[in-house]
Amino acid sequence: MIIDTHIHLDDSRYNDDLDEVLNRARKGGVERFIIPGADPKTLDRAISIAESNDDVYFAVGVHPYDMDSFYTLDFEKYVKHEKCVAIGECGLDYYRLEGSDEEKENEKLKQKEIFTLHVEVAKKYKKPLIVHIRDASRDSKEILLNTNASEVGGVLHCYNADEELLSLAKEGFYFGIGGVVTFKNAKKLLNVLPHIPIEKLLIETDGPYLTPTPHRGERNEPFYTTFIVEKISQLLDLKQQDLEKITTANAKELFSLA
Ligand SMILES: [Zn+2]
Ligand SMILES: [Zn+2]
Repeated sequence: MIIDTHIHLDDSRYNDDLDEVLNRARKGGVERFIIPGADPKTLDRAISIAESNDDVYFAVGVHPYDMDSFYTLDFEKYVKHEKCVAIGECGLDYYRLEGSDEEKENEKLKQKEIFTLHVEVAKKYKKPLIVHIRDASRDSKEILLNTNASEVGGVLHCYNADEELLSLAKEGFYFGIGGVVTFKNAKKLLNVLPHIPIEKLLIETDGPYLTPTPHRGERNEPFYTTFIVEKISQLLDLKQQDLEKITTANAKELFSLA
């Protein structure tokens, strides 16, 4: 059994065949799905999917690309929902910064402020964090440490293989591994993977993005966790079944799933 800990089922690319996507995954051994919050405009759709499927959960948060909606998001209303399991995805993404150096610095400051506010919300409601980090490892780690985010812990989703982040395992953070691990150019991740404590490993697709080999170029979906698990178990020299058991237990522990 597998838990897809990061799957954007509220994305419009699943509108036409969501039930088939879920059923394919279930038949392939996926027993739970977590929809991270990213864009508040599709949050109500995420909730309705979670309400009509026992095995689907959701998180509430604002992706660094959508920061402005943070202030109008009514966290309290969502966080008290019985299927809400985490705060996020939130974090820092310096990959697409635009404009002059000064504009870039201002954008970074704003991202840091909103990320910090997410940590405060997570601590207030005692929910783990789903953290998105791209080209911003140092600042992200600093914020997580300075805000005592270890009180709630969380997952560094789509872990970027930066060794600097590995020490966060001691602070209650897990490492979400997805399709990138199957890519030919994923050398860095392949080298770092054995250094992640196995009890801190989680499986995710991040669908519809980051589709694993051999389906690259197509829409990603939770059924493809199979390819991710297969690859990781080879790398760690573990039986696929054992890896599934361990990562599923890890996800249940972090997100308090029954
Ligand atoms: Zn992300
Ligand atoms: Zn995501």
